[in-house]
Amino acid sequence: MNQDFNIEKIRQDFPILSQQVYGKPLAYLDNAATTQKPRSVLDAITDYYTTTNSNIHRGTHALSEKASGAYETARKTVRHFLNADQPEEIIFTSGTTASINLVAGSFTDKFVSPGDEIIISQMEHHSNLVPWQILCKKTGAILKTIPLQDSSALSLNAIEELISDKTKLIAVTYVSNVLGTTNPIKRIVDLAHSHGKPVLVDAAQAVQHMPVDVHELDCDFLAFSGHKIYAGTGIGVLYAKSKWLESIPPWKGGGGMINSVSIRKTFYADPPLKFEAGTPNIAGAISLAAAIDYIQSIGIEKIAAHEAEVLNYMHDKLSSLPGLTIYGSKSNRHGAISFNLEDVDNYDAGLILDKMGVAVRTGTHCAEPLMQHYGITGTIRASIGMYNTKEEVDRLYEGLKKVQAMLQ
Ligand code: PLP
Repeated sequence: MNQDFNIEKIRQDFPILSQQVYGKPLAYLDNAATTQKPRSVLDAITDYYTTTNSNIHRGTHALSEKASGAYETARKTVRHFLNADQPEEIIFTSGTTASINLVAGSFTDKFVSPGDEIIISQMEHHSNLVPWQILCKKTGAILKTIPLQDSSALSLNAIEELISDKTKLIAVTYVSNVLGTTNPIKRIVDLAHSHGKPVLVDAAQAVQHMPVDVHELDCDFLAFSGHKIYAGTGIGVLYAKSKWLESIPPWKGGGGMINSVSIRKTFYADPPLKFEAGTPNIAGAISLAAAIDYIQSIGIEKIAAHEAEVLNYMHDKLSSLPGLTIYGSKSNRHGAISFNLEDVDNYDAGLILDKMGVAVRTGTHCAEPLMQHYGITGTIRASIGMYNTKEEVDRLYEGLKKVQAMLQ
């Protein structure tokens, strides 16, 4: 194990990891679905409700000032984490799904006409597919799909072939939630921009595993969820370049997003508040800042190096099992490995592993078009976070051998 990375200390920071499941120590390998929370995040949430709880941006009293300050500090923390140019480019949402729906609902309502085209890929999570289908239905636009190549990463040539004068947006995932495949996002953005087309990046499976710098990527939009990066549920982020935020209309109307209102006309607040109608998830934003602080206290590069070691070990270990098929390639993978066992239903395998204390996810992982590409009904997915170890991979391996003995 990486000497520079105190895995024991990190594991102790996550209270949930010390519990037993069916009398076995928990091996939590379902991090692509959601991550566990370090004590500093749990404390930040408790502390907020114990000392600060109040609505923001509206009150003149001390608690409201304090809550508003903490919420805006959280925005600045996210801004630095992503290296966005300004805090105003960070919009708090309820998660990746809400962030993508915001763009599909407001950006494209204004910019998309019948016959225009939105480009996505075959490996998208439904959250980066269904909002575009809804948009296409509403506007008469056409959804085009980047096919997968053998290596499973998206090919620049395939994207170039799909871009046309009618393209309005390219919306692609950074890291596949099923395969762990990491797409060449910087090169995709450069290619799209060379044709004058904007790019939305679904970074739900990226920000927790590697440094993500929106300034360097130069992407137009980027979405992620707090709960997949060690923060609470119900908080997420949409990063958008300020030029877009100034020109696109709000997606939702209500309190908190206005400057003045009369029955005839409303003057909207400036971004980001223009896109944050209603009372936001204040505790969630604070938990996200605490999670980012925690990650930065360890170092995202160190986390990436540790996870690469565990994931490569998992790949080699799983590959040694006869009758096991891994989807996607070993290189350039982050977070997750999906596989199947010959003659074994993925769901049955998941149930047996669970009884051994090994938590994995089974099924389609909200990526049915990807399942259709492989001609399968689902996979077993093991996905890691910063606290997973090679010993836990060994437990997965032993569990799978038991599954084979029972079901094959
Ligand atoms: N995009 C990807 C790649 C995901 O993995 C997920 C969740 O698994 C989502 C979007 C949706 O995230 P949320 O349910 O937090 O909105």
